[in-house]
Amino acid sequence: MISDIINSKDIKKVDPVFGQLSFDNHEQVVFCNDKDTGLKAIIGIHNTVLGPALGGTRMWQYNNEWEALNDVLRLSRGMTFKAAITGLNLGGGKAVIIGDAKTQKTPELMKRFGEFVHSLSGKYITAEDVGMETSDMDLVREVTPYVTGISESKGGAGNPSPITAYGVYMGMKAAAKYKFGSDILEGKKVVVQGIGHVGETLVEHLTNEGAKVLITDINEERLQAVSSKYGAEIYKGHDIYSESMDIYAPCALGATVNDDTVYKLKAEVIAGAANNQLAIEDKHGAILQQRGIVYAPDFLINAGGIINVYAELEGYGRQEINRKTENIYNTTLEILENATANSITTNQAALNIARERIATRKKENSK
Ligand code: NAD
Repeated sequence: MISDIINSKDIKKVDPVFGQLSFDNHEQVVFCNDKDTGLKAIIGIHNTVLGPALGGTRMWQYNNEWEALNDVLRLSRGMTFKAAITGLNLGGGKAVIIGDAKTQKTPELMKRFGEFVHSLSGKYITAEDVGMETSDMDLVREVTPYVTGISESKGGAGNPSPITAYGVYMGMKAAAKYKFGSDILEGKKVVVQGIGHVGETLVEHLTNEGAKVLITDINEERLQAVSSKYGAEIYKGHDIYSESMDIYAPCALGATVNDDTVYKLKAEVIAGAANNQLAIEDKHGAILQQRGIVYAPDFLINAGGIINVYAELEGYGRQEINRKTENIYNTTLEILENATANSITTNQAALNIARERIATRKKENSK
């Protein structure tokens, strides 16, 4: 009986959507299901004050639906602030598809997902994230115009990952300048955790500059390939968080700065591509600050990708993409200085600026 379900203790423990810890006044959460293709997806639209909610689609084998929901809520919120601090007229959104991208992703599933995106009439615009390729976005493009990150041959700006990596590299250099007094990374020991689309290009920039790069990934084949291509050393230990390093670059999944790791980390700077690196923003940001570890906010320094896909909507070219991405260096330095001047965490300083821009626009919109 439905009343039994509603009254059940388990369900009462926490409200399923609006009561989630990671729910932050999201405007819309859309659950997409298609039996024929096996699609189970959630689209999170956090905030559309600055423009349509743009954010990639992640395909991941979550342990359960709560994890997937939590991920999409956190990721879409992050996109709102990323667009805001980067000065783009975009809102924050994100999508997750529940499943194994290697074995369960089919053209039919991608197109069905595209139809769900289309049904939102442009309020949400998708792109690639973990588990997605440019070719997947090309499939989505067959059923909806509300997709970016499509192939250059199809009029898109191509894979955003190299630009994301370049922006992370710029943010890392700025954080190094702030912490060490110089942005030269030659000789610095940098741990890159996750050497996928973004991580690999970051390794390339770092080894080109002469940094001592240590790489770690759960994919052994990639480790071997990236190591032999760029001469990066493969981490052989069992606990990367106990390794001494100058810079920690998380480029896999989020929440790696958490209760278990935050006191262990032996880095001077954290600067990486992963979204939502701090498991609990205020708490873990404050501990890093107390420990003197400079944290370059993820949503600030990994904005290269969104700058790249935004070009598809606004029609600007490669030169402007590079200029905007290079500017991440200046913005990062400003935020780090602002945090120190106001005795707040670097994450808070970045959030304050992003929130201010949204509030100003909201006022203008309501006039
Ligand atoms: P990807 O899927 O290409 O690479 C992720 C890599 O991390 C893979 O090689 C995977 O094996 C590895 N990995 C997964 N779990 C791991 C673990 N526990 N330890 C070590 N390695 C692990 O993804 P990507 O596109 O390179 O994105 C990386 C991160 O950057 C993601 O958090 C993504 O959300 C974020 N990001 C990406 C972009 C972009 O343009 N691709 C833009 C902004 C943010």
